[in-house]
Amino acid sequence: MNNSDMPIRVLLVEDEVGDAQLVKIELRQTHGEKFIITWLESLNDVPQSLQESDFDVLLLDLSLSDSEGLATITKAQLLVNMPIVVLTGRCDTDFALQALEAGAADYLVKGNFGFDGLARAIRYALFRADMEARNNLLVAALEAAASSVFITDNDASIKWVNSAFTRLTGYSSEESIGKNPKNLVNSNLQDKDFYQAMWADILQGKHWRGELINKRKDGSLYQEALSIAPVKDKAGKITHFIGINDDISERKQLEEQLQKMANTDPLTELFNRRVFLERLAEEAARLARFKDQSAALLMLDLDYFKRVNDIYGHSTGDEVLRKFANIIRETSRAVDLPARLGGEEFAILLSGATKTDAMTLAERLRERIANTIIPHKKGSVRITVSIGAAALLSTNDVGGDKALNHADIALYTAKDAGRNQCCWFSRAINYKNNSILTREHE
Ligand code: GH3
Ligand code: MG
Ligand code: MG
Repeated sequence: MNNSDMPIRVLLVEDEVGDAQLVKIELRQTHGEKFIITWLESLNDVPQSLQESDFDVLLLDLSLSDSEGLATITKAQLLVNMPIVVLTGRCDTDFALQALEAGAADYLVKGNFGFDGLARAIRYALFRADMEARNNLLVAALEAAASSVFITDNDASIKWVNSAFTRLTGYSSEESIGKNPKNLVNSNLQDKDFYQAMWADILQGKHWRGELINKRKDGSLYQEALSIAPVKDKAGKITHFIGINDDISERKQLEEQLQKMANTDPLTELFNRRVFLERLAEEAARLARFKDQSAALLMLDLDYFKRVNDIYGHSTGDEVLRKFANIIRETSRAVDLPARLGGEEFAILLSGATKTDAMTLAERLRERIANTIIPHKKGSVRITVSIGAAALLSTNDVGGDKALNHADIALYTAKDAGRNQCCWFSRAINYKNNSILTREHE
């Protein structure tokens, strides 16, 4: 790299004194840059010279005593790591092109440099070398990046991808170039509207960000966070798009796991008390708005469950709870929300259900539980359940607390009445000092 205030250090390899002299005169006459010229007569002298000094550019004559023609360029490339500007007596376009192909930065005909020609060739050679070094550095940075990066033209045809792109998608650079990224990794899990909305944004020159599910070459799916930035030319026209994507499958799985842990009971995988109370409050709020709709609540408590633990052990107790949860899940409708409130106490929120719906479901559940036999080496375990049911109807029942309380009262009415039964909360129940004096169930 050359700083414009610094002299340009030229290594001239030329076996003819007259020609070397011409070069020196030409460069001395140049305005602007200062050139420091070290003149050698043969390639053999180059290594020694490189040990003594640093150079910016090599001016190379192609017919030397120790080398002749295009091979001279190849030999010189092995010796030096700087741009090579070739000097030759031949005024021949084909030969000039061959010289450039062989690795020369530029080509000049001796005695025909033109105005400022030699200095300009050196200047451009250095500029190009500088740009190339910069470009290589940027590519190295993109290759080292953990994020997958791809560049497309304005027709969304891939022009370049980095190694992380290949690692993420399984598609090599050769397989990707010329393809539309959407077709390359499409999982068909995003609909047309998704892509239309995306294109609407990026064609307006906006930076687009989103999450999508794509498919690798091996057919496996991954979730990615994708950002697409348009690149514009000086006139403001979009010429390219740069896409950067990160595999967020693991993060998503972790989020789902955490979400599940926060919302469900680990033993039965039913929703926990917190989720249940939240949904109950939502349902109560919904009913307050839509007065013609109904909902109900079941509270379930296993009968004499303590005995199961005492007789068969705690792990059998756990198995009974899991079995019970499965029966609740299987018997409930898709809109119902079964939950484990704690211990051996469960509840089901029945959205849209009337008293008849609720009592039908409760009775079906009670019966299924009573008929369930859980095998155990000490003999089969049988269990029954008591169920209290109540409507969610009061418009001023903020959070559904009253309904919960009603269902709880109905549950204990069922327990008192001998267990293994379902009770609907009755308005005829009287309270005094918070204790229930009379319990009635319809
Ligand atoms: P009732 O008919 O009046 O409901 O009698 P019960 O024995 O079911 O009621 P009680 O409240 O006396 O006992 C509940 C038992 O549930 C006590 C506790 O050891 C058991 N229990 C609570 N949570 C778990 C659990 O996660 N696993 C097991 N195995 N037992 C549990
Ligand atoms: Mg010569
Ligand atoms: Mg119980």
